[in-house]
Amino acid sequence: MDRILVTEKIAAEGLDVLRQAAEVDVRLDLDKAGLLAAIGDYDALVVRSATKVTAEVIEAGKRLRVVGRAGTGVDNIDVNAATRHGIIVVNAPASNNVAVAELTIGLLISLARSIPQAHSSLQSGKWERTRFVGWEVRGKTLGLVGLGRIGSEVAVRARAMAMHVLAYDPVVSFDRAAQIGVELVAMDELLQRSDVVSLHVPLVEGTRNLIDAARLAQLKHGAYLINASRGGVVDEAALLAALDAGQLAGAALDVFSQEPPPPDAPIIHHPKIITVPHIGASTAEAQTSAGTEVAEGVAAALSGATPRYAVNAPFVAPEAWAVLQPYLTLGRQLGRLVNQLIHSPVRSYDLEFCGELAEVDTQPVRLAVLQGLLEANSIERVTPVNAPLIARERGVRLTERTSPEAESYSGLLVVRVQAADGEHVFSGTVLRGEPHIVQADGYFVDFVPQGALLFTYHRDRPGMIGRVGTLLGGADVNISGMYVGRLAPRQQAMMVLTLDEPASEEVLTSIRALDDIDHAYSVTL
Ligand code: NAD
Repeated sequence: MDRILVTEKIAAEGLDVLRQAAEVDVRLDLDKAGLLAAIGDYDALVVRSATKVTAEVIEAGKRLRVVGRAGTGVDNIDVNAATRHGIIVVNAPASNNVAVAELTIGLLISLARSIPQAHSSLQSGKWERTRFVGWEVRGKTLGLVGLGRIGSEVAVRARAMAMHVLAYDPVVSFDRAAQIGVELVAMDELLQRSDVVSLHVPLVEGTRNLIDAARLAQLKHGAYLINASRGGVVDEAALLAALDAGQLAGAALDVFSQEPPPPDAPIIHHPKIITVPHIGASTAEAQTSAGTEVAEGVAAALSGATPRYAVNAPFVAPEAWAVLQPYLTLGRQLGRLVNQLIHSPVRSYDLEFCGELAEVDTQPVRLAVLQGLLEANSIERVTPVNAPLIARERGVRLTERTSPEAESYSGLLVVRVQAADGEHVFSGTVLRGEPHIVQADGYFVDFVPQGALLFTYHRDRPGMIGRVGTLLGGADVNISGMYVGRLAPRQQAMMVLTLDEPASEEVLTSIRALDDIDHAYSVTL
C-alpha cells in the first residue's frame, strides 16, 4: 500500500480522503533533518507553506511520486527538481476564491457605510447618527482589475447587488466576461468610469506598483479603492497622498507591502483607510477545501489518474522532444510576444499549423502557445499541464487548423488574434533548428525571439532609426540587432530592436515622445 507523509496541519476532511487512498502518517514535528531521514519511505508528501521541499528532499524521496500543497503558491517547493524526477506537484488554487470575494464585498459595504468607524464611535460612548450617512452600492460602477478566479466571484456578487461591473484583464475573453455580466474594458477606461476599483491581480513583475500616482490621478475624483490581492500592487505612499488630496475618498486594505506593517505605519492609522490583517482566505470553509482539494489531487496522482490541479509538466520522450523542441520554444515565445504586444481586449486566438508542422501531433505546440499567452499574468507556475485548465477558467478561446502550404518555409506557426481593435497576425518558423519570428503584428520581420526587445510602431521617415538609437545609446542600452518591417515606403512601419539589456521606463517615455512614434513597447522573451 502507498504511504503518504503529511507534515503540516490540514483539514480532517482532507485526511479522510487521503486515508481512503493510502496509509497516512501525520508528522507535525519534523525538522529539516527529520524530513530528509523520513521521506525515503513515502510515495506522497503533503505540505502547506512552512515545509521546504528542496531539491535535497526530492532527491532523498526515492519512492516519491507526488507532492501536494494545501493552498495556492508553490514557492516552498522546488518544482523544477520535482519535474526532473518525474514527481507530480499538485496544489489547491480554487479553495479560497469565495472567502476572498466575500471579504471584498464586506470591505466594499464597510467603505460605503463606514461600519468600522461607526462601531468605534459607538464603543467610545457617542451616538453619531448624522455623522455616518453613507451611500448605496446599487447602481454604482465597480471596476475589477483582474477577472480571474477571485475577480469573477466578486463580479457575480456585485452584480447581485445591482452594481454595474467593469473589468480589465489582458487574458480573459469577452465571452467569459459577458457570461458573468461584466463589461470588459481597457485599464484607462476602467479607472475613469469606476466609483470603486477593486484589485484582483497576482503580484508579478508587471503588476508591482500597478496602482501608482499616475493611475490614482486617472480615477474619478472621490472614488474608492479596495485591495485584497497583494500589497506590492499598490504604491502605498501614492495612495496616502491621493487620500490626503481628496482625489480618493477612501480605501480598504487586506494586504500590505510589509506584513505585518509597523504598528505606527500611516497606512493603518489613516482615517479614510479601513484595514484588516490579511484575513481574505481565513474562513473555516477555505481551510477545509484546501485540505480536500489537495487530498483529491494526491489520491488521483497516486492512482495514476490526471489530477485536476497539477503544477508541473509530465515527462516527454527524448525522441519526440528532439523534433518538437524548437517548435515548442517558438510556440511559447510567440504566445509571450502576443501577450506583451496586444493591449486591447481579446476575443479569440486562431492557430494555424502549416507545412511540416501540419504533419506532426500539434497538441504540444498548442499547449506551448497557451503557456506563453498565460504565464506573465499568473501567480501560479503555468505549464503545459495546467495551461488548458487556466485558459478554460479565463474563457480563452483558441481555435486551430492545419494547412499543407507554408509559403516558402518548411513549417510555419501562425497566431491570429481577434481583438477589440481588429485582427493582429503573428507567425514564426524554425530555421537551422532555431525559432524565428517572421511576422509581428502584421509586419514582416525576422528575428530570434529571446531576451530583451524593443518594438516601435511608427511612420517610416528618414532618421527615425537614428533617433531611437541615439536615445538608447544615451541611456547606455546596447543594441545587438535591428529589423524593420513596413507596409509601404513612408507609411506605417515597425522596428524591432534586440537589446543587451531591457530599456527602462524612462527611455521608453522619451522614445514615445518622438515625432512619428505611435507606440513603443519593451518586451522580454
Ligand atoms: P487568478 O490567477 O485566478 O486571476 C488573476 C487574474 O489577473 C488573471 O485573470 C490574470 O489574467 C489577471 N491579470 C494579470 N496581470 C494583470 C494586469 N496587469 N492587469 C489586469 N489583470 C491582470 O488569481 P486569483 O486566485 O483570482 O487571485 C487574485 C489575487 O488575490 C492574487 O494576487 C492572489 O495572490 C490574491 N489572494 C489574496 C488572498 C488574501 O488573503 N487576501 C487570498 C488568496 C489570493
